[in-house]
Amino acid sequence: MEFFNGLTLLTTPVAFTVLMGVVGLLIGSFLNVVIYRLPLMMQRQWRSDCLDYLKLENDVPTDTFNLAFPPSRCPHCQTRILAQQNIPILSYMWLRGKCVACRESISGRYPVVELLTAIVSMTVAWHFGYSEQAAAGLVLTWALIALSGIDLDHQLLPDVIVLPMLWLGLILSVFNVYTDSATSIIGAVGGYLLLWSVYHGFKLITGKEGMGYGDFKLLAMLGAWFGWQYLGLIILLSSLVGAVIGMTLISLNKQQREVPIPFGPYLAVAGWIAMLWGDNLNTWYFG
Ligand SMILES: [Zn+2]
Repeated sequence: MEFFNGLTLLTTPVAFTVLMGVVGLLIGSFLNVVIYRLPLMMQRQWRSDCLDYLKLENDVPTDTFNLAFPPSRCPHCQTRILAQQNIPILSYMWLRGKCVACRESISGRYPVVELLTAIVSMTVAWHFGYSEQAAAGLVLTWALIALSGIDLDHQLLPDVIVLPMLWLGLILSVFNVYTDSATSIIGAVGGYLLLWSVYHGFKLITGKEGMGYGDFKLLAMLGAWFGWQYLGLIILLSSLVGAVIGMTLISLNKQQREVPIPFGPYLAVAGWIAMLWGDNLNTWYFG
């Protein structure tokens, strides 16, 4: 009975939000690993596949390298990072952002990703309350953070994240979590075709490539989650977010006009906003 009461307490809005904040910190720590390691794992695999295909000597190291192994090390001095030095945010503050062994600075991105994950997780938890929408929304939020990080680093949106998330969106529609299956399927196909047409139209007119196939798949994924009615809003929001960030970077002289900025993070931010406030925005915008 005691246990049951404790569990009920955790489902109250405030407790659930705080709990998801803590979970968000831990997940954020894991997302740092995904953002850093997944592209390296993919590059190893590609290199190995290419060399095999060309019947060349395969020089890819055969040691285990995945999300869980080997344990994290300082990229500078290779000292192993112990569990107590790996506590989200706190360890970074305690160590004042420096490696224990060599005192080399640790990238500020790690605590930023942890904090960001905690904040957006709390927002989702507070918005939906203890519900299946919250559970699914958290998974989507975490996937979008990983995708954005990898896209910013490598201009790459790994299929290994995007495609399972697209299928998950389709399955959720069977249970009507965010939308029904008809709008979800049309959303997935429509999302892909929409950006595919933009891409080929743009290429035909300017001869340049504005985005990549990963972006089409990402919009297809978001279409599967929320239905075709959200595609217009997501495109509009992503352009807005892109314009604001692009102009800020250019005015700060941090980004040259000709250097491509990956589109994935803008789509991710737009999709996330659409998940939380899309209904209101759609009603407001389209009357
Ligand atoms: Zn070190």
